[in-house]
Amino acid sequence: MSDTAANVNAAETEYEPVVGMECHAELLTNSKMFCGCRNEFGGEPNTRCCPVCTGMPGALPVMNIQAVEHVMRTAIALNCSINPHAKFDRKNYYYPDLPKGYQISEYDIPIGVTGWLDIEVNGQPKRIHIRRVHLEEDTGKLFHVAGDESFVDLNRSGVPLMEIVTDFPPDIQSAEEGREYLTRLRSILTYIGVCDGKMEEGSLRCEPNVSVRPVGSNTFGTKTEIKNLNSFRSVYKGIEFETQRQAELLRKGERVVQETRGWNDTRQVTFSQRSKEGEEEYRYFPEPDLVPLHINEDWIERVRASMPELPDARRARFISEFALPPYDAGILTDTRAVADYFEETARLCGDAKTTSNWVMGDLAKLLNASGTEIGASPITPAALAEMIGLITDGTISGKIAKQLIEEMYATGGSPKTIVEEKGWKTIKDSGAVLAAVEKVFAANPNIITDIKVKGLVGKRGFLVGQVMRETQGKADPGEVNRLIDEKLAD
Ligand code: ADP
Ligand code: MG
Ligand code: ZN
Repeated sequence: MSDTAANVNAAETEYEPVVGMECHAELLTNSKMFCGCRNEFGGEPNTRCCPVCTGMPGALPVMNIQAVEHVMRTAIALNCSINPHAKFDRKNYYYPDLPKGYQISEYDIPIGVTGWLDIEVNGQPKRIHIRRVHLEEDTGKLFHVAGDESFVDLNRSGVPLMEIVTDFPPDIQSAEEGREYLTRLRSILTYIGVCDGKMEEGSLRCEPNVSVRPVGSNTFGTKTEIKNLNSFRSVYKGIEFETQRQAELLRKGERVVQETRGWNDTRQVTFSQRSKEGEEEYRYFPEPDLVPLHINEDWIERVRASMPELPDARRARFISEFALPPYDAGILTDTRAVADYFEETARLCGDAKTTSNWVMGDLAKLLNASGTEIGASPITPAALAEMIGLITDGTISGKIAKQLIEEMYATGGSPKTIVEEKGWKTIKDSGAVLAAVEKVFAANPNIITDIKVKGLVGKRGFLVGQVMRETQGKADPGEVNRLIDEKLAD
């Protein structure tokens, strides 16, 4: 092959991404990892710290068992084994947001190892292997202001932080799979109550490691790590961007440099931040101020017994128990709050599919529009179940129900009372419906002729619409159709 031919080939090679994920989750505990300071997002800067989390000389760490159990819960949920003797290590580096000059972390014996999480993309199931789940502490937060000034807020310093790393060789092979992995992980973490999953507050942050290789090859290229992504969108876009950028370099015959890259959300590009530190630069050694953790079977069993049903199991149960379509079951089990809401409503009204339609449709729209979590919905499951009952027993039409749910949302009122007050009950009286039909027929002689004489049956729908309008949507549609057919046959 000539040189030119080789170059042409290189320039045309198709590349695919290979992705490893490192995710950090701030744990939902009352206090910080090694001291009694309150663990809460935000607040006046530097009001939730003490000698331990500000790294004063001589201050000693005390292990937060609630945090340890959260990591155990996560390890169990991700099908990991739990190390009976997990230990803590010091990761040494200097940065102004790290007052101790080291972070307490777990180096070679993390709490959880070798598990998996199942995802599904375009109907294709895929198992993503997990290498480890470990416990560490968060750093403080730096604020850079105009000019050369910077400030540090240590409220976050020492907040319990869990890291979850996917295994090598990496299973994730597209931006979509990366996003789906994060979606499922977030769902699990919020279900088991270990993290609030608020990516916009930094409670869950994700670092994709991306390399590319020629499609069909099973070698591994040089990877870059995209730091601290805090939305599903940026994870997707970041992986896509890095894939294109690296493929472009290789096609030009250049090399990918192993480095840490930042994400510019405005420009939707990654940029070089720093070349990657080797592990030796962290000078890890066992944390001398903490004893190793002994985790016995009894403890693991106790934690296991306290675990709720996980999203996958619940999804399967919604399909088998409530005969829901898999699509509905997937959406309804995405968060525990939505699943709880759905399940309570479906049990009360006894009609799962109708409940699903209202929860995923009108209710979701109303909640979104007002930025309200379902747990704080002004419509309780009991109220929604009552409303569905009114449709089922024919008290109101489906059309009226759409008005009703808005009114219930706005006022928090009971559906029965609102229907009563507004006079929204379906007209049961055939005479009243017949009167409306006759009125519409009298007002539209041309349409009647079109249908009866010219056979333009498509115009029949117009008559139905007019009768519904005449009765303010309260006529029973079956009754309206029957009466119109009767009259057309006259
Ligand atoms: P680092 O110490 O640089 O963070 P790790 O070995 O801890 O690297 O790996 C971090 C993540 O990157 C893991 O999920 C791992 O599977 C993944 N990874 C390792 N090598 C590659 C590669 N060549 N391409 C993509 N991902 C990789
Ligand atoms: Mg890394
Ligand atoms: Zn403290």
